Amino acid sequence: MGLFDSHSALAARYEIARATGQMPTGVVMDQLLSASEAIINGRKTVTVGTHNYLGLAFDEASIEAAVEAVRREGTGTCGSRIANGSFSDHVALERELAELHGMAHAMVFSTGYQANLGIISTLVGAGDFLLLDADSHASIYDACKQTQASAIRFKHNDAADLDKRLRRLADEPGNKLIVVEGIYSMLGDMAPLKAIVEVAKRHGAYILVDEAHSMGVLGDNGCGLAEREGLLDQVDFVVGTFSKSLGAVGGYCVSNHEQFDILRVACRPYMFTASLPPATVASVRASLKAVKERPHLRAKLWANVSRLYGALEAAGFQLGSTPSPIVAVCLESDATTLAMWRALLEAGYYVNIGLPPATPSGESLLRCAISAAHTEAQMDGLAEALIRLGHEFGVLAEPRLMAKA
Ligand code: PMP
Repeated sequence: MGLFDSHSALAARYEIARATGQMPTGVVMDQLLSASEAIINGRKTVTVGTHNYLGLAFDEASIEAAVEAVRREGTGTCGSRIANGSFSDHVALERELAELHGMAHAMVFSTGYQANLGIISTLVGAGDFLLLDADSHASIYDACKQTQASAIRFKHNDAADLDKRLRRLADEPGNKLIVVEGIYSMLGDMAPLKAIVEVAKRHGAYILVDEAHSMGVLGDNGCGLAEREGLLDQVDFVVGTFSKSLGAVGGYCVSNHEQFDILRVACRPYMFTASLPPATVASVRASLKAVKERPHLRAKLWANVSRLYGALEAAGFQLGSTPSPIVAVCLESDATTLAMWRALLEAGYYVNIGLPPATPSGESLLRCAISAAHTEAQMDGLAEALIRLGHEFGVLAEPRLMAKA
């Protein structure tokens, strides 16, 4: 048995798909032109898959902050947060994140993935229970593998199913930690947070909300779903990422728990990796300010969401249940999805693709990630291209002919 033999089934599937044309995993952005356009395969392409929800990856103030920081403090910290890698800007960013959420504590991680991995796996251990929504992100599932706590999945967005599973654990003395997401990454739907909090409180369980896709998108200050629902003081931990609305890379967790800071010397994905480079921390601080002080970016984002979601819904596409910056077009076959994705790229639109087993219930998805930086014309152009291809590929019924008088 060779070292790579365990991947042979995957390799065979991959080869078959690759033989039919360009693979979504192999897209190269030859040149970024702006927050909404890039050169791909030598062609100017509208990027509708970057998660740069507020367009801040190209914001002048964030770029200037990064440039100034790299000149002042160098290209990297060359060390972890528990050694030489804590600069005053890391600490300032943590203070600002805590303040934005009205929480006492914040920890900054080198990626959002590590924030989930580290926080979840360090909070619970042998004898404890993790209750996960079935559609949880890979970083949450991977956290389960790093802890001896028992992981229990409940049905996606189903507070009654969560309640049932917690009732079964009523006599178990271990801690129970519920993990949900503000906006789910594949279908763009939102957690029924009020109902989840009510169930959690009744069972004495803790709650962690991953706001990766809702930070900057929901709430008056842009903190996410918990803020929009008025529940920030009811949840125990909020995790988020800098790689979406904040236009950079990194992750965070905020909490009001008094002993939270002990995690700094217990959480291995925080302790044993280099801290974020100064330029990243500086741009994130500038973008965080924009999230709070420029709500018109959120308004523009939501106007774009309504425009695209409305057009695709009216055309008869099956979409994720709730309009959100992730507009997921659900299709029946992998082959059609891949072919439509390629045709869309040819037509000058880059979107994300979701294929099983990466998708929740085996759906095949064309995932559009909308930004405040998109123009109305770009949204209309994408809708037109999708509708045209929907007809060409037999996904949408042919437009009805006008009945003759
Ligand atoms: N949580 C969710 C829900 C995500 O979708 C992602 C990334 N797509 C992450 C966490 C990890 O974030 P990052 O890519 O910044 O590491």
